[in-house]
Amino acid sequence: MTTHEEPADSVLETIGRTPLVRLQDGPADVPIYAKLETFNPGASIKDRIGRYMLERMLERGDVPPGGTIIEPTAGNTGIGLAIAAEQLGLESIFVVPERFSVEKQQLMAALGAEVINTPTDDGMDGAIARAHELAAELDDAAVPQQFSNPLNTEAHYETTAPEIFEALDGRVGAVVAGCGTAGTLMGIARYALEQNPETHIVAVEPEGSVYGELLGEDRAEDEYKTEGIGTHDTATNELFEPELVDAVDAVSDRDAHAELKRLAREEGHLVASSAGAASVASKRVAERIDDGDLEVPHETVVTVFPDSSERYLSKGIYRSFEEWTS
Ligand code: PMP
Repeated sequence: MTTHEEPADSVLETIGRTPLVRLQDGPADVPIYAKLETFNPGASIKDRIGRYMLERMLERGDVPPGGTIIEPTAGNTGIGLAIAAEQLGLESIFVVPERFSVEKQQLMAALGAEVINTPTDDGMDGAIARAHELAAELDDAAVPQQFSNPLNTEAHYETTAPEIFEALDGRVGAVVAGCGTAGTLMGIARYALEQNPETHIVAVEPEGSVYGELLGEDRAEDEYKTEGIGTHDTATNELFEPELVDAVDAVSDRDAHAELKRLAREEGHLVASSAGAASVASKRVAERIDDGDLEVPHETVVTVFPDSSERYLSKGIYRSFEEWTS
C-alpha cells in the first residue's frame, strides 16, 4: 500500500506507508527497490521513530503529559520528534553538533523546538552528554535517546519492514541500509530474518566510519561528509546487532555523492548522501547476486532512501565533489 486514501485527522497519521520504487540502474534481472522516506511529513525516515517513541513513552509514563523531551540529534530525528511532540502536547529541546545542516536546525525551530548547539569537535558524544545534563536539570524531562532506545528499532520492525514485505509479497532476498543509530536496518533485518533466516543483510557506512570493526573488519577512522550514517565510536551505537548482519559495506563520500547526483539526473530522486551510499551498496549486492557470487532466497534487493537533498542545498550537495568539500 503506497497511498493514503482515507482523510487523516492529524499529520501524525500521514507518517509511513511510503512508496517503494524500483531503481532504474543495476542488473536487469535483480531488481533493487528503494523505500522513499522523503514522503513523510517531516521528509525523512525519522518521523517514524518520532511518533513511535513518544507515543510509547507517554503510554509507559516515561515522560509526563505536558513534559519535555530532550534529544541529541543530527537533525532528522529532531524534526520527527518535534512534529510528534507538538501533536502530543510535549515540549522539545534538541542538542545538535554545529557541523550538521542549518536547514534541519531551522526546521526544528520552525516546529517550535529549542535548538542548542554543541562544538563539532565534541562529536555526537558531546551532544549526548549535554542532553543528559539538561534533562537532569528539569523534573519533567526525558531523553528518548535514539542511539540506545530499543523503541527506535521496534518502530521499523512494526512499520517500515511490514510495509516492504507487503509491497513485495514477501519477495525480499537482501536488505541494504545505512546505519546511523542502526535502528532502521536492525528493525527491518529482524523482521526479514524471521520471514527467512537466509535473507542477506548489509549495513552501509561511509569510509572513515568504524561499524565494520564489529564484524571483525579493519577500519581506518577518518572524517567523512556523508551525513546521517556511520560512527566513530561504536560504544554509543548500542542498537547495532552484529549477529543480524552479514556484511558492512563502506562507501566513499565521492561515490555516495556521485550517485546522489545520478539519482537526481537520471531517476528524478531528490535524495541525500546516505541514500547515495545505500544505492551504491545495493548495486554492489545486486551485481553479486547477478554474477552468482551470492545466494539469496529471492533475487530482489531492498534499500531505504532516508531523506531529501533539499535539506543540504546550503552545503552545496549538488556541486562538484571538490568544490563541495573545499
Ligand atoms: N540517513 C540520514 C540522512 C539520517 O539522518 C539517518 C539517521 N541518523 C540515517 C540515514 C540512518 O538511520 P538510522 O539511525 O536508523 O540508522
